[in-house]
Amino acid sequence: MKDHRPQEHSVRDLLRELFPETHRELFGHEADATHPAPPPLTLGLYPVADGRLALVQGDQLAEFTPLDPKAKGALHCDLCHYTRSRTEAALYRVHVAARRTRYVTLCTGTQSCQQRAGRSGLERLAHRIFPIEPIRADER
Ligand SMILES: [Zn+2]
Repeated sequence: MKDHRPQEHSVRDLLRELFPETHRELFGHEADATHPAPPPLTLGLYPVADGRLALVQGDQLAEFTPLDPKAKGALHCDLCHYTRSRTEAALYRVHVAARRTRYVTLCTGTQSCQQRAGRSGLERLAHRIFPIEPIRADER
């Protein structure tokens, strides 16, 4: 198949269409009117002390505190959307504002969970959690 456009150009276009992440890695951030590329934010779940997880997106941080799930039976991970046994996942509580909490079920093996979910899955989760209203310690 002949492509009349310069080869390099079409490969780059294809990359940007199909693998924007890779495109950004290879070519950096180009001003592009049709595909404005937001700067990549730090995004991920990181195990912190006492079985808690920290969800970090850019300069935002949410702390996930594990709870004893009341429900019996299988759990459905809100990040990778796998159905997990009660030993493979946990229910976490997140304070998103004063007296407002959200409950999220996540795999306890967060590394493989995040790999299954990918960056888009993490972005969806972050979208549900952030922005967090500042909470004073006495409001918890
Ligand atoms: Zn999961």
